[in-house]
Amino acid sequence: MDRLVTALLVGALALAGAAREETSPRAPVTAPTGDWPFHGRDQQAQRFSPLDQINRATVRRLGLAWYHQFDTDRGQEATPIEVGGVIYTSTAWSTVAALDATTGRLLWSHDPRVPRETLANACCDAVNRGVAVSRGRVFVGALDGRLIALDARTGKEVWSVDTVDHASGAHYTITGAPCVVKDKIVIGNGGAEFGVRGYVTAYDAATGRMAWRFYTVPNAKGAPDGAASDEALRAKAARTWFDGEWKVNGGGGTVWDGMTYDPAAGLLYIGVGNAGPYDWRRRSGGKGDNLFLSSIIALDPDTGRYVWHYQATPSDSWDYDATQSLTAASLTIDGKSRDVLMQADKNGFFYVLDRRTGALLSAKPFEEVTWATGVDMRTGRPVEVANAHYENGPSILKPGPFGAHSWQPMSFSPRTGLVYIPAQIITGDYEPAPAVKARPIGQNVEIAMKSFPEDKAQAEALRAATRGQLVAWDPIAQVVRWSVDHPSFWNGGTLATGGDLVFQGTAEGRFVAYDALSGKPLWSFDAGAGIVAPPISYAVNGRQYVAVMVGFGGAGALVGKLVPDRPRLPGRLMVFELGGTATAALPRVEPPAPIDVRGVTSTGDPRAGMEEYNETCSVCHGANASIRYTADLRRSGALRSAEAWRAIVLDGVLKDRGMIAFDTILTPARAEDIRAYVLDQARKGEPEEARNR
Ligand code: CA
Repeated sequence: MDRLVTALLVGALALAGAAREETSPRAPVTAPTGDWPFHGRDQQAQRFSPLDQINRATVRRLGLAWYHQFDTDRGQEATPIEVGGVIYTSTAWSTVAALDATTGRLLWSHDPRVPRETLANACCDAVNRGVAVSRGRVFVGALDGRLIALDARTGKEVWSVDTVDHASGAHYTITGAPCVVKDKIVIGNGGAEFGVRGYVTAYDAATGRMAWRFYTVPNAKGAPDGAASDEALRAKAARTWFDGEWKVNGGGGTVWDGMTYDPAAGLLYIGVGNAGPYDWRRRSGGKGDNLFLSSIIALDPDTGRYVWHYQATPSDSWDYDATQSLTAASLTIDGKSRDVLMQADKNGFFYVLDRRTGALLSAKPFEEVTWATGVDMRTGRPVEVANAHYENGPSILKPGPFGAHSWQPMSFSPRTGLVYIPAQIITGDYEPAPAVKARPIGQNVEIAMKSFPEDKAQAEALRAATRGQLVAWDPIAQVVRWSVDHPSFWNGGTLATGGDLVFQGTAEGRFVAYDALSGKPLWSFDAGAGIVAPPISYAVNGRQYVAVMVGFGGAGALVGKLVPDRPRLPGRLMVFELGGTATAALPRVEPPAPIDVRGVTSTGDPRAGMEEYNETCSVCHGANASIRYTADLRRSGALRSAEAWRAIVLDGVLKDRGMIAFDTILTPARAEDIRAYVLDQARKGEPEEARNR
């Protein structure tokens, strides 16, 4: 098809989309035009700004207005909130900053002083995905489990509550943004990989008093919790679980990201995460759907009571969280206006649900999916392929644990009728872990953790098979309208605007504006560091801005072999306007120098060390001990001394930097095995380090 015809077609589609929205009998709930007051901008979480000063014709004049540099080089995942000319954002370690939205002047900042050893309980970096602002207060969930209310004017703490049960030893963390629901603040948590039981809690915004709690999976003791979830767990979930490890490790199902409060339907939608541990046979004897894992649940926001659920992935074995952004919209389907809830699920299917009843309206794969052949519309269940649960040996499936879409939010433009998905193409190599280990610390997912292939051809094949994609998806026809390939997976969330633009940052650090109708790139800016956060747009004094948090990090960054290999740089909030002329030089960060390991010996067994490394260390230090993101172990001076190594690994001398003591799960001999393995990796090194071998 020639370009003109394509353009005309997408133009016609756009008009159809606009007409659909205008003729909808129910007025959408929207935010004031210039502000970005909620996590997803409006209460439908569409991440669509109607502002159109920056548009397809003017975007080439877009330039940097100002930037603010934060004091951390950990990942930046926050959606900033902008109200009344002030930006409120969170950075790594749950620190909150308020800035003048036109000049970038720092008004205040609040550091909750999260103990750094909390990092050992966090699967995916020290990130925070944003604050909530309501009634003159700013709310943030801290990594260590606190929900904190700050005075929006001064940044002073008003109240703080511990939302997790630390006494039980359970390893909960918070990285998600709180959700404003009338006079309450709702917050979930993470930790399914660390053996916890998921729940969300609502707190009174004024006082911090707990209003209700909803657990997503049954109580292993079979007793009621005295929580809002009791009846739903008894009547629906309990009989879907069987004997297995969930009884000792909680079962998972954490609500660590997507939550949308819908005032029109009077419902709160929550996205429930994956199972813990992953292997269904070990978790639940290979029986049962294990409700409400990997589900979308609608709750009564006043009481926390269950209203409906849709389980996207029954009996999850693949880390298929259903925590991705939950977008509400009114779509005309088969001639009828339907109030829908949409999710581009981690499992690769795009779901359109009736958001008042939870009825499944359609489900189609938005990326290549090999674990299931489709979704049976009669039952609403996926049609799994043979050996999907790796019950007969290893199974290589698409998508893998990183998902076809992770937490990076999608956006929906009512003008084009399209959803813009920060999608990714990545496989998973699933195999049960060789032995069951009930461990008091660290991850316990019960699938084999593997090294990145050392064989060059295999490594290249894996890299070539992994990439990112910006997918413009028609949610009515359930087809791709256009897509753009990115060289790496783990790119930024998206923003759609009234100027018919889609903004997205990439893992390589490019911040790009695309034509929302055709996908043609119209403008691009080198941000210097990788972008995973979603952009926002706002207007102050009649001037439109686009803002994005810059700084690579999060889960994807920790597997560095499949993302750009770059040193960490200080996080920044970068803000753009038409005619902006500011510049932002980047500090030069040199990687640590290679260390001389000639003549250094170890009594350890590198082969056993590799197995232990993969299981215990790789989740933070990356594949093959060769990731720069956390701390390049091959360049650690401690490698040269068994004593220094032991002091770090077993005694925890670096716990204030997040490296806790592992003496409860590692013997001195096993710690030395790991050192032997890392020494081997250091010797292999990179070609330019050959002189040190
Ligand atoms: Ca997960």
